[in-house]
Amino acid sequence: MTASGPVLRIAYLYPDLMNLYADRGNVTCLERRCAWRGITPEIQRLEWNDRLVEAADLYVIGGGQDRQQQLASQGLTTRNADRILSDLADGAAMLAVCGGYQLMAHRYRAADGSEVQGLGVFDAETIHPGSHVPRCIGNVVCDWNESRIVGFENHGGRTYLGPDATPLAQVVRGHGNNAEDGTEGAVAGNAIGTYLHGSVLPKNPHLADHIIKAALVRSAPEFELGPLDDSAEWAAHRGALRAAGLR
Ligand code: GLN
Repeated sequence: MTASGPVLRIAYLYPDLMNLYADRGNVTCLERRCAWRGITPEIQRLEWNDRLVEAADLYVIGGGQDRQQQLASQGLTTRNADRILSDLADGAAMLAVCGGYQLMAHRYRAADGSEVQGLGVFDAETIHPGSHVPRCIGNVVCDWNESRIVGFENHGGRTYLGPDATPLAQVVRGHGNNAEDGTEGAVAGNAIGTYLHGSVLPKNPHLADHIIKAALVRSAPEFELGPLDDSAEWAAHRGALRAAGLR
């Protein structure tokens, strides 16, 4: 705890390797929304060959092409699985987007048929049907937590949730996990997986604060997130709703 407020330890996984569609904006959003409330964000960047040395309150990983995912999978499963899984089991939070989400499920069968091993945070698996099958691309609107979250998606893989998985949201517009069952993303404890790029957090301030609160639950459970002027964020949210043909 610093003089003004708690410290939030963010482990940013593979920022250069897994950063499709400006997903790094999620870390910037978290950093700013913490700092505006007197929370001190401490960012630990994990590059490809690194091993995590510190525990984290929040893990963030963005999207990536199949090749980058194969590289990230090696670093995750051979050097960092124990640290990440033990922190998550202890209540740490996670935001895993698209390719990063796929790597936090059991496995990803890539477009070329190769198997990419995941960490099994989510009871799910992803199958890419092959590059001849149209990708899931477009604006997405979902019902989440009695509100809506918005973003856009661009993935070939279709994610299927297992019996122990909980979907993050229900699709209102777009494809979501697999364009078949109406689910989007997954939740396991305080870990969230989603296909929403955008980046997703700046235009969904309620989701960003939900994640920050979850990440603080161990170190500062009583800390209240004060209100922010989110007029620009909600304007962007409404713009995304319009882009998806909704009000
Ligand atoms: N390569 C994965 C797929 O095509 C993930 C893509 C992404 O992260 N946008 O499904």
